[in-house]
Amino acid sequence: MSSGPKYKRVLLKLSGEALMGSGSYGIDPETANRVSLEIKDAREIGTEVCVVVGGGNIFRGLKGAAEGLDRSTADYMGMLATVMNALALQNALEKVGVDTRVLSAIPMASVSEPYIRRRAIRHLEKGRVVIFAAGTGNPFFTTDTAAALRAAEMNCDALLKGTQVDGVYDSDPKTNLSAKRYTSLSYMDVLRQDLKVMDASAISLSRENNIPIVVFSIHTQNELVQVLQGNGTCTVVGE
Ligand code: UDP
Repeated sequence: MSSGPKYKRVLLKLSGEALMGSGSYGIDPETANRVSLEIKDAREIGTEVCVVVGGGNIFRGLKGAAEGLDRSTADYMGMLATVMNALALQNALEKVGVDTRVLSAIPMASVSEPYIRRRAIRHLEKGRVVIFAAGTGNPFFTTDTAAALRAAEMNCDALLKGTQVDGVYDSDPKTNLSAKRYTSLSYMDVLRQDLKVMDASAISLSRENNIPIVVFSIHTQNELVQVLQGNGTCTVVGE
């Protein structure tokens, strides 16, 4: 690996879908393994990595509420889904030799550490990958907002959003072949045009803390390291 990282410490946001592979539910071990190898490479070029995982591959609060569950209860169930993903990712990371800790915003002492900011920072300084589980710990939020919050708390240099496509487009690149990818956007562009990058509270929080959001494809091999070195295909949302 030639050049050093552009970002020294990053928060990687992985949606539940990113662990789902080609299936329509749950966790695909092969995909979890591939994502883990990407994270391992990121560690090896010297970037400190923390991860927020979503839960949409297992359970979403809004869907549960639409089906008749009380919204708060449904959201707590969604947060528990993120804990399952966090444990699966931890398992996959440790299998490829990456020392990892899961810190949960909902205390769950048998399977994870409680989220304590200073402890999380210490883990990062020791070279461990830290996975933040259970979102913010509060209903009515999303793991996108949790990602922006933890990125600010950890003093991250960037929030990396690994998605199914290689950036933010002016229309859906899967259905429109002439869709144009933005190389950069301002936070306000994203908010005004309601572009589907992350939810509005995550964008606002990142804007207030001046943390760039880098949207890239988690499915393109070696892309995470490329992005960290400033060479990848991505969209950067900033001032
Ligand atoms: N959730 C929540 N508070 C949080 C984070 C998540 O209530 O701080 C719940 C919410 O119900 C959400 C679910 O957990 O639908 C899974 O998270 P999310 O939808 O953000 O996952 P992703 O889309 O990234 O897979």
